Amino acid sequence: MGCEEQIRRKADVVVVGGGTSGAIAAIAAARNGAETLIVESDGFLGGTATFGYPFLGFFNGRGEQVVSGLAQEVVDRLVTLRASPGHVRGGTWSTREKPMVYEFSLTPYDPEMMKYVLLIMAEEAGVQFLLHATLTGAVVEDGAIKGIQVHTKSGFINLSGKVFVDGTGDADLAARAGSTCELGSLEGDIQNVTLHFRMTNVDAERMVEALKREDRILGRDSWYIRLVRGKGPDPEPDRFIHIAGHMVPWDDPKSRPPLTFTAVSQREGVYWFNMTRTVRIDPTNVNDLTRAEITERKNVIEVSKLLIKNVPGFEKAYLSGTSARVGVRESRRVMGEYLLTAEDVLSCKRFEDGIAMGAYPIDIHDPKGGKTIFNFLKEAGSYNIPYRCLVPVSSKNLLVVGKNISATHEAIGTTRLQSTVMAIGQAAGTAAALTVKSNLTPRSINTNLLREALRAQRAMVG
Ligand SMILES: Cc1cc2nc3c(=O)[nH]c(=O)nc-3n(C[C@H](O)[C@H](O)[C@H](O)COP(=O)(O)OP(=O)(O)OC[C@H]3O[C@@H](n4cnc5c(N)ncnc54)[C@H](O)[C@@H]3O)c2cc1C
Repeated sequence: MGCEEQIRRKADVVVVGGGTSGAIAAIAAARNGAETLIVESDGFLGGTATFGYPFLGFFNGRGEQVVSGLAQEVVDRLVTLRASPGHVRGGTWSTREKPMVYEFSLTPYDPEMMKYVLLIMAEEAGVQFLLHATLTGAVVEDGAIKGIQVHTKSGFINLSGKVFVDGTGDADLAARAGSTCELGSLEGDIQNVTLHFRMTNVDAERMVEALKREDRILGRDSWYIRLVRGKGPDPEPDRFIHIAGHMVPWDDPKSRPPLTFTAVSQREGVYWFNMTRTVRIDPTNVNDLTRAEITERKNVIEVSKLLIKNVPGFEKAYLSGTSARVGVRESRRVMGEYLLTAEDVLSCKRFEDGIAMGAYPIDIHDPKGGKTIFNFLKEAGSYNIPYRCLVPVSSKNLLVVGKNISATHEAIGTTRLQSTVMAIGQAAGTAAALTVKSNLTPRSINTNLLREALRAQRAMVG
């Protein structure tokens, strides 16, 4: 088996799940000198960051940058490739009922180029890849993960490592290694899932005119519309980069409730729509996931047809793409050495072992399908994520990243944002490398040294 022989079976740091957070964790671990292997079930890196959403949360409501480091390097590389205009500022969260001085900014980018940028950054850092490999099990001895099992086209493969990072977006590794996990709110509610879709030839000027006269697009002055104008990556005139509101695509406008939407453009006339939703999906249950994929694909086809038929601005538009699968806003959260709460976030608390910053308001997509609720941070500030949220209580050599860190259902409503999970990934990768170098456990490393190392890599730790 010539091919089989080349499969790498062990590394110092094994990152399982090469998505938004995991890919950055692997790059950070390798740059910090650890022999690093990334195990990913897809054929590319990036996970949900390749679904077409813009990066949110790089800046707080006062316009101060709170995420930098590797996440900023990703943006810089996308800009150089003309796949992103960079950060687009100048939006506001203010509404007629809630006048606020609270900046809204976003960083749109071409998701195809995101796959490439992460691949190149990982390759340059010396990360080893095992793609098309899905975690199926973990061997735990005396509280430490000795090895994992993955399923591949070459059959089942066993891999071993000194430190493991769970970047699966579902805490698959933590769950299989026996860590305590939670899912949903105290009432058992889980945020809804969405299939993101792209439409081409959209006339956003007409959409905004319709919004102003409340013609099929609603919410002006009464909800967080956040109209943002800016340039795209190419030398083209200013245009609407971001529009939010409530859409009424139905033939009989009163027959069904409006759909809350955001529309984000990376290219002229091309907009990604975050609009349809399926509720009551447990993303760790294959039957639920199957139902979600079927329902959401039908929803997107129905809604995109109705937009073209009934909504101003869509007359010449067509559906030109959907994300690889439904986007999961919330999945397992691993119980760690510290549990980040909504109060910590909203009061902008700082921690001695802070390793990343976040600033986006808590954003809960109603588990029952109603309007999205936003909770804003004190004085438009930013919050801190302690390293302990990445360290599961019940494992000696595991770190958790992405939307699976130790935080409550409410706090995850902001820590899950892409800029924040990239910052978390950088911290975890750096911590994993430090663990290996110092021959300690993730729990016992010196967090002052970790913070120093992160600062030296231009990460913002609070
Ligand atoms: C509908 C929706 C809209 C959003 N909108 C925005 C937005 O506008 N702006 C923003 O900043 N954020 C947004 N977010 C949040 C953000 O995109 C995600 O929370 C974030 O990307 C999650 O990162 P992650 O690393 O935790 O998971 P992911 O990026 O999903 O990565 C998980 C990776 O693990 C792999 N994997 C999973 N299971 C296994 C396994 N068993 N074995 C091997 N590999 C595995 C997956 O293939 C994937 O590559 C949105 C999320 C959703 C769902």
